[in-house]
Amino acid sequence: MESAAEAIRSINPDVGIETLAERLDEAKLERHLADVDLVIDGCDNFQTRHAVNAACVASGTPLVSGAVIRMEGQLAVFRADRPGQPCYHCLFPASEDVAETCSETGILSPLPGIIGSLQALEAIKILSGCGTPSDSKLLVFDATQSSWRSLRIPKDPNCPVCARH
Ligand SMILES: [Zn+2]
Repeated sequence: MESAAEAIRSINPDVGIETLAERLDEAKLERHLADVDLVIDGCDNFQTRHAVNAACVASGTPLVSGAVIRMEGQLAVFRADRPGQPCYHCLFPASEDVAETCSETGILSPLPGIIGSLQALEAIKILSGCGTPSDSKLLVFDATQSSWRSLRIPKDPNCPVCARH
């Protein structure tokens, strides 16, 4: 984490960086989200993704979610700052199942850069108001074919996380 902060400072010393070397429980997540305009999620497990999503919904914070595994990447933009939008839980309902992790299955090395760059692009569009963000869409990249699919994410009217927001 500190090496990433140093790398960013070496590129642009004017960027403000605050690193947190601590686990974030629900209360800490909500407290930190009160100070941010947008969340870019690169979590490596579903439990954390769902916790971050719930905090974003509660605080009305946009969430740009990215995931990579094996030969596939996914990008989804959730606009909790706008009414009637779906959330991460609408797309991937929480499950007790133990999901695969990238350390178990591997990742084709260019994929994190591809998805991470797209997350940065979506974040810039949302924060600047420039262009058209990919709100409520799931973009899926198949690295074996170098092809993209775009799917609209429906809002679950019974979603336990966002239905009341
Ligand atoms: Zn939802």
